[in-house]
Order: sequence, then C-alpha cells, then structure tokens
Amino acid sequence: MERIVEVERFEVDEVNENTLRPDGWDDYIGQTQIKKNLSVFIEASKKREESLDHVLFYGPPGLGKTTLALIIANEMDANVKVTAAPMIEKSGDLAAILTNLEEGDILFIDEIHRLSPAVEEILYPSMEDFRLDIIIGSGPAAQTVKIDLPRFTLIGATTRAGMLSNPLRDRFGMNFRMEFYSTEELAKIVIQASVKLNKEILHDAAIEIAQRSRGTPRIALRLLKRVRDFADVADEQHIHHERTLYALNELGINTNGFDEMDMRFLRLIAATKGRALGLSTIAAALSEDEGTVEDVVEPYLLANGFLERTARGRIATTKTYEVLQLQVPTSDQGVIE
Ligand code: ADP
Repeated sequence: MERIVEVERFEVDEVNENTLRPDGWDDYIGQTQIKKNLSVFIEASKKREESLDHVLFYGPPGLGKTTLALIIANEMDANVKVTAAPMIEKSGDLAAILTNLEEGDILFIDEIHRLSPAVEEILYPSMEDFRLDIIIGSGPAAQTVKIDLPRFTLIGATTRAGMLSNPLRDRFGMNFRMEFYSTEELAKIVIQASVKLNKEILHDAAIEIAQRSRGTPRIALRLLKRVRDFADVADEQHIHHERTLYALNELGINTNGFDEMDMRFLRLIAATKGRALGLSTIAAALSEDEGTVEDVVEPYLLANGFLERTARGRIATTKTYEVLQLQVPTSDQGVIE
C-alpha cells in the first residue's frame, strides 16, 4: 500500500520545495477568486459537518494545484493521501486506495486525465454514491459485490481539462482554472520564500526574478534558490538586485522569462512568415511530445500574446516578431493569411 502516498515525488526533487509550500491561506498568494470561493465552501461544509464536494483544479504545471489540495486538507482538518494517475494502473489499485480511506479523508490524484477507462469506471460510483462495485469472477457466474465507502473528498489536478472524459468531469462539484501569477504576486511569493530560506531578498531583486518566471511560482522559487547560491558564494547577507541580475544572466534566463524551449518554439512559428503551423509539426520539429507543447510551452505564450491559436494551427503575432527582433511580415509579401 506504500504506493498510495507518493512520497517519492516529494523526496526526490521537492524536499526544498516542500519546506517552501504554504500551509494556510495567508501564505498562499494570488488566485484570489479560487481562494475566496474555496474558503466559503470549506466553511460551509465544516458547519454542516459534511465532507467537502469533489474538487478539480486545472492549469499548467507549477501554479499551485497540489499546494491548494494540501491547504484544503489542512483547513478541513483532514488526512490527505497524495497519488498520481500513472501510479494507479489497475482497478484493483484504486479499490485498495479507496477501501483504505477513512471518513472525511482527502484523496488527491494528480494528472487525473491519465486514468485508464477501467479505473475511471470504478471511480464513478465511488465519487457519486461512495460505493465500490467490484466484479468477482467472469462469465455467467460473475457477481457484483458492492462495498460502502466512507465519505471522502476527491481532489483532482490536471494540466489538460480537455482530455478529461465528460462523465468524470461532471462528477466534480467544483472546478477551478488556475491563472498565471502577476509579477507582483510572484515577487511576494519569492520574498516570503526567501524569509523561510533565511536569506532575505530585496524587493527590486524579487521583481527581477518574478518577471522572468513565466508567471509560475515553481519557476520563481527555483530561480530564487539559484540566485541565493550566487549571493552565498559572494558572502552577501541579503540578495540584492545587482547580484540577482548577474546570476540570472549567468543562468541564461532571458528578460521575458523565456527558456530555450520557448525561444525555439517562437523562432519556429516566426519562420513560417504568417502561415499557420500544426501542433504535430511543431512537436516534431522541437522533438517534444504534443502534450508537453500544448500543456507546458504554449499556455504562457498564449496568455501573453506571443502566439495565436486558430483552427488552422499556430500563428506568430506581432509580439513574436518583436521579441525575436525580426521584421513583421506584411501582406504584400503574400504570406499573411
Ligand atoms: P502544481 O501542483 O500546480 O504543479 P505546486 O502546488 O506543486 O504546483 O506548486 C509548486 C511550488 O510553488 C510549490 O513549492 C509551492 O510552494 C509554490 N506555490 C504554488 N502556488 C503558490 C502560491 N499561490 N503562493 C505561494 N507559493 C506557491
């Protein structure tokens, strides 16, 4: 049963991230609307002494979905089991997880769009009626055994809401779309984390990191830790703007926060001079799978106007050409569609 709590993920690359994880609303910056709504629903279900309705969070990685799930558990005074869909291979795996839950527990399933149809089938009655239908045997002798489950709350997280099957999506009482963070919000997150790391960062330095973090707390925190290394080596007590600039440039982080993958993406769509490119072509040219391009690379570029998505495919915008310092193609070149 050890697979249920996906400890490994936290142990391998998130030990530090874990210590920086907010555990209450006060430390959770931004996503104001989500926070406001969730706290009302949490308060209401606590008043009624009921378990919270199932919740779905969707949006690009690193925006705070797991953190929200843990805060909800904290606020509800509930135990939380953390797992991810790829770890639930067979329906028996899910049945084992569900039958081990206790009243009021929270089950967090990351990447929930990756559950197999057989596992989803088991999940439906569990979410709706808190009942597990298990088929024993096969053929005419097969029997369905129904097991009552405790009332639990399922919190699902996904980078691809579009890939969730309709019946699964419908079974979530609440669903929330995560937003990219503003520079000010990210700066707050960075300052707050620097205090926890015992190495305070000055406001202008935090802004500098925030601007280069693709609107994503996970990236901001990663950059903060690298910049802190530079400040430590230079024996500086605080993290200053100058050291931050130096470190970020050494790390090759561009002023828009674009990494190498973003730049390759932008160069690619700009190279067609106004013609649309299909997702599969882009993925092949970047040697990435389509899912990563669509979930990880594109959302930030789209949200910031560096990319337009049309029925025919992806098109560069004026901003794309500007950031690449290329001339915007004109229609008399016969290339703008
Ligand atoms: P996701 O589950 O969406 O991939 P996480 O919840 O793991 O993202 O968040 C990534 C990191 O960013 C965590 O270390 C978390 O502490 C931090 N983080 C995310 N959202 C916030 C927030 N709103 N305020 C402060 N820190 C945040």
